[in-house]
Amino acid sequence: MSRKNIIAANWKMNMTPSEAAAFLDPFLNTFSEATAVDIVIAPSFIAMPKASELITPNSAVALSAQNMSHEASGAFTGETSAAMLKEINTEYVILGHSERRSLYGEDDAVINKKVHAALSADLKPILCIGESLEEREGGQLESVLTTQLEGSLADVTIEQMGDVVIAYEPVWAIGTGVTATPEQAQDTQAFVRSVLAKIFREEVAAATRIQYGGSVKPGNAADLIGREDIDGFLVGGASLDPQSFAEIVSAGIGG
Ligand code: PEP
Repeated sequence: MSRKNIIAANWKMNMTPSEAAAFLDPFLNTFSEATAVDIVIAPSFIAMPKASELITPNSAVALSAQNMSHEASGAFTGETSAAMLKEINTEYVILGHSERRSLYGEDDAVINKKVHAALSADLKPILCIGESLEEREGGQLESVLTTQLEGSLADVTIEQMGDVVIAYEPVWAIGTGVTATPEQAQDTQAFVRSVLAKIFREEVAAATRIQYGGSVKPGNAADLIGREDIDGFLVGGASLDPQSFAEIVSAGIGG
């Protein structure tokens, strides 16, 4: 089954609106036409309107949020709704990032509500899962990932899975400079696909795109993307530099 690679930049709490524009102007020129990979940029909420102005609907790059509320509207100070994101042409939303889980207490039940709110609004979730080093070394890798997948994807239909991207991000590799080896990433992502086959069915698992995330850089991207179950990347630190992100995208086109 051939799956289109998807390379996403998670800028986290970096890049002001003017810095986002300074990145996107040359970057969008480099990737001005549809490419063999899907390219996604997730700026902070405050930089999203600027990015949306620059990323035109026929651009090769799609806009993503880094989070959203599962509520539709109302008295939820500081939150952002799916409808607000849709109005500025947002296509994807990162949900369940390990920083949201560990720093802001998001659990699988909350993430599941967000996944449903996103899908109902026609936003494509990039659902993040991943284990800590302690969990991996303690032999809990498979149970942790299975629980995260079952909880976050509860009651998602087979049809809706067509819009879901999974990002496997081992917590010990995020922002640490330590990357999972291609073998570790491949083995784990093959396991993730097998869990998707059990929750949904074989065809759904085979069609779902699974990104790897965790200290991806131009120097390790080609090795990782060459593996069967790695369908792209979610990139933090290395996505802040247009040149290095462009090199990672190019690795995705080649892989
Ligand atoms: C991330 O936060 O999703 C991530 C993968 O970060 P980094 O690439 O910096 O490890």
